[in-house]
Amino acid sequence: MSELNLILTGPPGAGKGTQAKLLAKRLGIPQIATGDILREAVASGSELGQRVKAIMERGELVPDEVVIEIVEERLAREDCVPGFILDGFPRTREQAEALERLLGRARREAVRVVSLVVPDQVLRQRILERGQGRADDSEETIATRLEVYRQQTAPVLDYFRSRLLEIDGIGSVGEINSRIVEAIEV
Ligand code: ADP
Repeated sequence: MSELNLILTGPPGAGKGTQAKLLAKRLGIPQIATGDILREAVASGSELGQRVKAIMERGELVPDEVVIEIVEERLAREDCVPGFILDGFPRTREQAEALERLLGRARREAVRVVSLVVPDQVLRQRILERGQGRADDSEETIATRLEVYRQQTAPVLDYFRSRLLEIDGIGSVGEINSRIVEAIEV
C-alpha cells in the first residue's frame, strides 16, 4: 500500500481533533496534533513550554520555526512511514512551504488536504460548550483564534487548492467521519 499523507484543517472548533483521532485509528497511521504537543510541553514546564505558554493563552500562533521543527522531528519517526494525519499544521503559508520542502527532501508522497467547513457562529458555540477547561477557551481568546485562522490559516487552503477536499463539518461525528472517508477513498 502507498503512503497516506493527510492534513486535516479547519477553524478552531471545527472538530479536527475528533476526526483526526477516528481516522488515525481506522487507517492505522498516527495523528500529529501540534496543539497537543505544545500543550504537553507547557504542562511539563520544559523550556519549549515556557517559551510558548503566554502566546497560546492569548490565542496567537507560536513562531513558525518552533512548530516546523516539532513536525520535522515527528515525521521522521518510524510510525510515520505508512503515512500520517497532521492536525493543526500547517497554519501559515511558511509552514505549508516548509512541509512541502521537507516531504520533497524525504521523497515522500504529496499530502492531501481535508478541510472541515463550519460557520463561525457554530464554532463559537461549540468551543464554549466543549468546556474542556483549556486555558485558551475563553470568549475573548476564541475571537482571537477565529481571527488568526481567517487571517493566517485560511490562505493556506488556497496554497493547497489543487489537493483540497472540502467537507461539510456540520452533522454528527459519525456522519462527518463517513464524508471524509468517502472523500479520501480508503
Ligand atoms: P484549535 O484548533 O482549537 O485552535 P489547537 O490545539 O490546534 O487548537 O492549537 C492550540 C494553540 O496551539 C493555537 O492557538 C496556537 O497557539 C498553538 N498552535 C498549534 N498548532 C500551531 C501551528 N501549526 N502554528 C502555530 N501555533 C500553533
